[in-house]
Parts: sequence; structure tokens; C-alpha cells
Amino acid sequence: MLVLSGGTGTPKLLLGLKQLLGSSDLNVVVNTAEDCWISGNYVSPDIDTVLYTFSGLVDKTKWWGIEGDSFLTHDFLKVLGSTELMALGDKDRAVHIFRSELLRNGRSLSEATMALAKALDVKQRVVPMTDDPVATIITTSEKDMHFQEFWVSKRGEPDVLSVRIEGIKEAQPSPAFLELLHNEESVILGPSNPVTSIGAILALPGVREKLEGMRVIAISPLVGNKPVSGPAAKFMTAWGVPVNDDGVAALLGKLDAFVVSRDSSFLGKCVRMDTLMRTELDCYRLARNIIELCS
Ligand code: GDP
Repeated sequence: MLVLSGGTGTPKLLLGLKQLLGSSDLNVVVNTAEDCWISGNYVSPDIDTVLYTFSGLVDKTKWWGIEGDSFLTHDFLKVLGSTELMALGDKDRAVHIFRSELLRNGRSLSEATMALAKALDVKQRVVPMTDDPVATIITTSEKDMHFQEFWVSKRGEPDVLSVRIEGIKEAQPSPAFLELLHNEESVILGPSNPVTSIGAILALPGVREKLEGMRVIAISPLVGNKPVSGPAAKFMTAWGVPVNDDGVAALLGKLDAFVVSRDSSFLGKCVRMDTLMRTELDCYRLARNIIELCS
């Protein structure tokens, strides 16, 4: 099974799929357009959440970082007068240091991710969408800013005029992503932000063309026409689509099956399910229904 993922909605589904599928049956291609360097280290938030989900480390209340992590380094940096863009936990930071060392020694993000997966005993295949630098830039009424500055420092408050993924046209899908697109017959677009997570993966050169020849199953990240979390509503409006499943469908393109929540206003061809994942049982139930739909 091939799943395209961001860092919050889809990892919840992956938690369920992990329990139901053998690890060799699960391949996840992850958005990297929210990556950034923080305090000298490369942070790849969506890859980290997917790796932590599979390794059992993820903090399931926030859906980022490691459960029970301490923040000694972050707090002492503050004492020293250095403010970090986001509060990184100590173990989480060790992961970033491990990755950054490999990158500084000339390894690709794909190689660094593979090394991390091995070190964290992750058996599923976790693949960055690209090894090339890409960045989500939000044009707000104040100024242009990186996604993380908009979402973390500014708490998503500024008005959003437009969203762009810098470097995406020049970037290439990673070698493992290309191999999966070649070998797999179907693909699941997970319940992740349709502009900045799934949208970024689909915007890589050649990806939409490859999907034309595959069975595409998408799960909407909206529940009852509203995002469960995150800035999807502002970003969809900036892209000129309505904040509902018609808007999600317009952004995702050709779909063979579109899974929406039971109370969605969508009137087109779709499959209705309970898509809100509040508990592990919810994640497991949705994963089971998606596996049934795919088979
Ligand atoms: P990011 O990379 O952290 O921005 O996270 P994603 O793009 O993976 O996820 C953000 C999206 O996940 C938001 O649009 C949410 O509405 C969606 N999401 C979060 N939790 C759920 C859930 O339980 N069910 C569904 N269907 N979508 C969810």
C-alpha cells in the first residue's frame, strides 16, 4: 500500500494501518515542504511525526514530538537569550542532530531518513517526497513568511493572501517515490492539508501524470466541512476554493474514490464514513474501512 502523508491527519490513519498491515505492505511518501533549519539542525516535522508514529514514540496529544520528552536545551537557550522558532524536545533534537550530521556529510534526505528509520527500528518504508530543497511560503497582509513562522510564531493569525511552494518546479520526486509510483497500482491520499501537505507532493513534476494511471483513493481532511486542526481553511480560501469537500476535490484532482465524513455537504460521488480520529480505536476503525475499500 502506498500512502501520501503530511504530519498530523494522515499519521493518525497510519497508526491504525500499522496495526492491520504487515510492515512490508506499508510505504509512506511524506511532505517535506514544511522542513526548515532550527538552531543549526534540519527539522523535517512531517517525516519525524511519521517515524515517531511507527516507532511508538509519538506524542499523541500534539501529534508532533516525542511523548514525555524534556525541553532542557530549549529552556536553557532561552536563558542564554536565544529564542528558537519552535520548542524542540531534547530527544527530538537528537534526531535532528543525527539527520543533520548525515546531510552535512553529503548524504541525501532519503538516505538520512532511511538511517533514522533503521535506528528507530521502523520497519515500514518512509520516504521523503523529494531530496531537493522546497519551502512553503505564505504571503500574509504583513509580509512573506515560511510556513513555520506563520503557524508557530504567528499562531496562524495573519490574513493569508497566497501560498506558494518555493523550489517545487525544479525539485524532483525522490528515487524511492519514483520507484513506488512505477510499481504500485493504487495510491491513498491521506487526510492531510490539501494545499501544503498533499498539495505539495502532487505539485512535484510528473507526479500528477503518474497518478493518472493509478487508482487514487483520497480521505478528506475536513470533517463536517471544517478542518480538524491546522490552517487548511485559510489556505483553501487563498487558493480560491470553498472550504468544503468540493474545494478539497478540486485541489486533489482525479479521484477514483473520495472518502468524506458522514455530515459532509459534498453531493458528488463519494464514500461516507466516520473520519474523525480522536482515539486509537477511531484510527484503527478508519484504517480497517480504508483497507476494505481498497481491496
Ligand atoms: P501538517 O503537516 O502538520 O500540516 O499536518 P497534515 O497536513 O498531515 O494534517 C493537517 C490536516 O489533517 C488538517 O487539515 C486536519 O483537518 C486533518 N486532520 C487532523 N485530524 C484529522 C482527523 O481525525 N480526521 C480527518 N479526516 N482529518 C484530520
